[in-house]
Amino acid sequence: MEYHSERCKACGACVKACEKGATRVLSLNENLGRIEKDACCCVGCGECVRACPTSAWTRRETPFYRVIIGGRTGRQTPRAGKMFLNWASEDVILNTLKNWQKFSAYVMDNKPEYLHGGHLIDRAGYKKFREIILDGVKLNPECLVAENVFWNETEYRSNFNVKPLNLCK
Ligand code: SF4
Ligand code: SF4
Repeated sequence: MEYHSERCKACGACVKACEKGATRVLSLNENLGRIEKDACCCVGCGECVRACPTSAWTRRETPFYRVIIGGRTGRQTPRAGKMFLNWASEDVILNTLKNWQKFSAYVMDNKPEYLHGGHLIDRAGYKKFREIILDGVKLNPECLVAENVFWNETEYRSNFNVKPLNLCK
């Protein structure tokens, strides 16, 4: 979202909209008569744009994307994906995807083998994955990259995470 302070009449409607329907990252600075945003947690939903009567919030024309990696379905070790890139441009996405083959060839030592992407990332480790998958990719200035990824395995059928108490470290 882009904020045009010269159009803002400090009515607070966007603050309420973000509070009610999104992430509560907007606040009204009454002294300055303008809106402030905690950029940490804006999800780009556009509720502030819809609420603003003066078009002081507008959407950028360029779409940005979020990339979630390593999630998998299946009965044994399903898990949710984690954020890898945020606010990435389309070019960044396409160029990143072009490196996938190089990454999987590296992990499997060029042998054809059927493995989910999440398992490949586990084998290589996130940092190696990031190094290869972003090799030669020029990130747009807005793009943020995960410094690390902490997987949270969820067990359903399998017992890989439970053992007799005396064997627990
Ligand atoms: S885009 Fe959504 S999360 Fe971001 S400031 Fe606007 S309402 Fe809040
Ligand atoms: S809704 Fe628009 S005019 Fe009202 S405070 Fe927010 S940005 Fe300013």
